[in-house]
Amino acid sequence: MGLETSQKSTRLVMTIVDIADETDLCKTYKFVSLFNQEIFPYHPGQDVKLYFDTPLKKNDFRLYSIASPPTRKSFMELTIKSEHGQFAPYFLAKAKVNDQYVIEGPYGRFLSKPLRMIKDKELDTLVFLAASSGIVPFRCFIEYAIDVKLNVDIWLFYVNRTRNDLIYRGLLPVLLENCPKLRLLLNFTREHEISIPELYETVCNVKDEIRDRVEFLFGRRLEFDDIASRVENWKEAWYGICGGARFIAGDRQLGQDGMMQKIEKGGVERSRIEIDSYGTK
Ligand SMILES: Cc1cc2nc3c(=O)[nH]c(=O)nc-3n(C[C@H](O)[C@H](O)[C@H](O)COP(=O)(O)OP(=O)(O)OC[C@H]3O[C@@H](n4cnc5c(N)ncnc54)[C@H](O)[C@@H]3O)c2cc1C
Repeated sequence: MGLETSQKSTRLVMTIVDIADETDLCKTYKFVSLFNQEIFPYHPGQDVKLYFDTPLKKNDFRLYSIASPPTRKSFMELTIKSEHGQFAPYFLAKAKVNDQYVIEGPYGRFLSKPLRMIKDKELDTLVFLAASSGIVPFRCFIEYAIDVKLNVDIWLFYVNRTRNDLIYRGLLPVLLENCPKLRLLLNFTREHEISIPELYETVCNVKDEIRDRVEFLFGRRLEFDDIASRVENWKEAWYGICGGARFIAGDRQLGQDGMMQKIEKGGVERSRIEIDSYGTK
């Protein structure tokens, strides 16, 4: 698999073979290629265009990060969350097993540089900062890292409002089990007064020996100190940030910093930060 950024995009007709509920507003779709065409090569972090006729627009599309790693070649998964806009709510309501859709890709180059640096032994620590559906490219990267036995420490800081918004609730414990160098902090900004044992049981049910790699933070937003106090070599790490615009860049009118400003003000060099912005909100 090459990491060149000038890949040509290809259109495939793909059939949905499985649909899994993630949350009330989010599902993961498993697609296989209809005409037994090979799925185009891609690297973790890349996106596709998914085409769909909504009641508002024929042949509309949105970009989606590829959720499944390129090492699992026979299928492609997309995880789609409604932001109450003009595409995803219709897709979530309509799409069913055996439906066929056009998927075009790959696009983008998120995470391709750190991947090359890890392979060249120039980087040994990744910090992934995800909000809500911003977890998708990181899930792809972590499964890829497991499959190719990538030697890298991965810190995943995953922010949601409440427990009910958590995507990949069932998968996160599997990733932790299969990736011994993965550590996870789950930040629930609007949860208060839940006991830690309850969180382990209901939110991230991992074996006892893995519990020291999972932490929880609730009732407030993630700050730079939460990262720097855990990631020993935070200055030398690579930072990937993915989610909505407010999570990444904050809200000027409210005078709130996003993760980008928080980590830059904390002292991380701009050249070590990479973003994938999902929307304007
Ligand atoms: C490169 C890229 C990769 C993406 N990957 C994924 C993915 O893997 N899974 C996924 O669910 N979505 C992903 N998105 C967002 C996706 O394209 C849709 O916008 C999303 O599914 C919402 O669809 P919608 O019809 O509800 O809202 P839209 O009609 O698309 O948008 C409505 C409003 O919501 C905003 N918005 C869209 N997405 C978000 C978000 N995540 N957070 C905050 N605000 C948002 C839009 O800017 C707009 O203002 C990605 C976007 C980009 C640009």
